[in-house]
Amino acid sequence: MKSEPPPPCPFEKLHPSELNRDAGYYMSHAFNESLKAWKANEVPIGAVIEFNGAIVARAYNQVESLNDPTAHAEILAITQATEIVGDWRLNGATLYVTKEPCPMCSGASIMARISKVVYAVPDPKMGCMAVPRRCRSYLA
Ligand SMILES: [Zn+2]
Repeated sequence: MKSEPPPPCPFEKLHPSELNRDAGYYMSHAFNESLKAWKANEVPIGAVIEFNGAIVARAYNQVESLNDPTAHAEILAITQATEIVGDWRLNGATLYVTKEPCPMCSGASIMARISKVVYAVPDPKMGCMAVPRRCRSYLA
């Protein structure tokens, strides 16, 4: 664990309307997950997975608390979603994540056959969604 406590979180939890389940709705829930990461002194990244109009997984980055470099929000959400859906193939699912997925999570989204990935901000340093898109032609 990091030794310093996290700075106070300047952001408020969002309360999106249940009546309008658009990308903003799902991303608001991913954002709320990222606030949990902030409060746990983690890099604040959150993710949710939508399947058949419902959120089947929600997670936040827990690399420090689990002492696990693979405990990214996306990986934890994919694992949850496969348990809920009952299939490791998440065809038709959409992953919403607050930051562009890293190489590991981009690859995992392909391996899980997630149909669509939506991210709020690009990550010029570690973002990797463009590369897997190119890889898809090789994997098909
Ligand atoms: Zn990642």
